[in-house]
Amino acid sequence: MTEPAKPPLNPGDEAEPGTVGSGEDICPQCGGTGKLASGQSCPECGGTGRIVEGIGGG
Ligand SMILES: [Zn+2]
Repeated sequence: MTEPAKPPLNPGDEAEPGTVGSGEDICPQCGGTGKLASGQSCPECGGTGRIVEGIGGG
């Protein structure tokens, strides 16, 4: 089963992209670089440097 129109969420994502009441933000784990200090890809944002946060709403 593939869902090409629905990219997988990263661990740091709190909501799906495009979800009402959510917003993209810099990943606090890597500071938006997508990489950790060790040089490894940030697992929180999947190396994108950004996460999707749920803001407001419920
Ligand atoms: Zn990150």
